[in-house]
Amino acid sequence: MPNITEAPAASPQPLTVLSEVEKMFQDAIRRFARERIAPHVRAMDEAGLFRKDLLHEMFDLGLMGIEIPEDYGGQGGDFFQAVLAVEALAAVDPSAAVIVDVQNTIANNVIIRWGSDDQKRRYLPKLATEMVASFALSEAGSGSDAFALATHAEKRGDHYAITGRKLWITNAAESGLFLLFANADPSQGHRGITCFLVERGFPGFQVGKKEDKLGIRASSTCELILDDCLVPADNVLGEVGKGYKIAIETLNEGRIAIGAQMTGLAQGALDHAIAYAKQRQQFGKPIADFQGVQFELAQMATEVEAARLLVYNAARLRVAGLPFVTEAAMAKYFASQVAEDTASRAVEIFGGVGFTKDYPVEKLYRDAKIGRIYEGTTNIQKLTIAKQILA
Ligand SMILES: Cc1cc2nc3c(=O)[nH]c(=O)nc-3n(C[C@H](O)[C@H](O)[C@H](O)COP(=O)(O)OP(=O)(O)OC[C@H]3O[C@@H](n4cnc5c(N)ncnc54)[C@H](O)[C@@H]3O)c2cc1C
Repeated sequence: MPNITEAPAASPQPLTVLSEVEKMFQDAIRRFARERIAPHVRAMDEAGLFRKDLLHEMFDLGLMGIEIPEDYGGQGGDFFQAVLAVEALAAVDPSAAVIVDVQNTIANNVIIRWGSDDQKRRYLPKLATEMVASFALSEAGSGSDAFALATHAEKRGDHYAITGRKLWITNAAESGLFLLFANADPSQGHRGITCFLVERGFPGFQVGKKEDKLGIRASSTCELILDDCLVPADNVLGEVGKGYKIAIETLNEGRIAIGAQMTGLAQGALDHAIAYAKQRQQFGKPIADFQGVQFELAQMATEVEAARLLVYNAARLRVAGLPFVTEAAMAKYFASQVAEDTASRAVEIFGGVGFTKDYPVEKLYRDAKIGRIYEGTTNIQKLTIAKQILA
């Protein structure tokens, strides 16, 4: 038996203890969300539009280039900080959170990891300061079965001509750059799938219909139309035929941040419920004095904490370079369920007014639903978990 009385040289930190830098970063984003975003949340939800001035402020604060190295004009932060940012924003507005989420944990990350030096020089400085990006994988016929995509790319000299349609593309209304997946050799099946850097202004490219959604309404979700869209061969990201690998590995990471979005959303709903329960009087006292309400709040708080621990652990594993695929799927699956349950209970604690748009929990309840759908549905997360534990 090892001597267990001797403390190890560097004992592991509790998951929720943040470093000084992480804490300052989190405080700054919470302040920004509370002071700048919160006053506009309802109007943006109703309009189905994210304010341009707030988007500019997110760039100015460095929120759109968290992991982009300082040499390219970014913040030089890490994946855990991106997760903290998404969580803090989601407590106030899950739409703001998903804009930051896709930019950082999907688009920027793909270019940092797989881009050539030339591509990094061309795109990262813009992505850190002014350009929104999207990840375009899904199509009408290929969602969960993403690699059944039909968009194809044909080599023509030093260009590729891409034809097809993409559906459900987050940030597309604002984006200047699309990380777009097309099959350059359908005879190879999924081994023909290639990732292209498609600029909004390329000939033959068009952003199509914007979806009118149940939740996260201020985040744009659009169709993309490519009709013989000419993309320089220099804009192939990574190798031809390696797009499926880029997509899988990117989504594995991205799921952790969706877990963070859902954890933040649930925390936001819980905070509203606690504040309301202390203030609302029935039978001559605050409803927070009733044990029935206290038990609801206790259960909500416990579930939110459990979701946060799963998310932080998966994120810390990713930063440490350790395997995280199972933990990421668990975090996304569990946190999205917690978000839906917590937001639903928060609506009930508010009673009748919780069912109206005059109070914020109605929107959080609608926003929660997407957590179980995008970046792999709950069933797809369960498939991933089952595959790993049965292997
Ligand atoms: C608001 C929003 C934003 C999005 N943003 C993006 C984006 O930026 N980029 C992008 O590429 N995509 C995006 N998507 C697409 C999203 O990732 C897909 O909608 C999702 O993967 C599900 O695909 P689907 O809609 O085709 O559903 P389907 O795949 O048709 O699934 C329908 C149902 O069948 C179940 N199912 C399917 N296969 C199985 C199986 N093998 N076993 C068990 N159950 C199964 C699913 O769990 C689901 O309940 C977005 C979607 C939405 C709604």
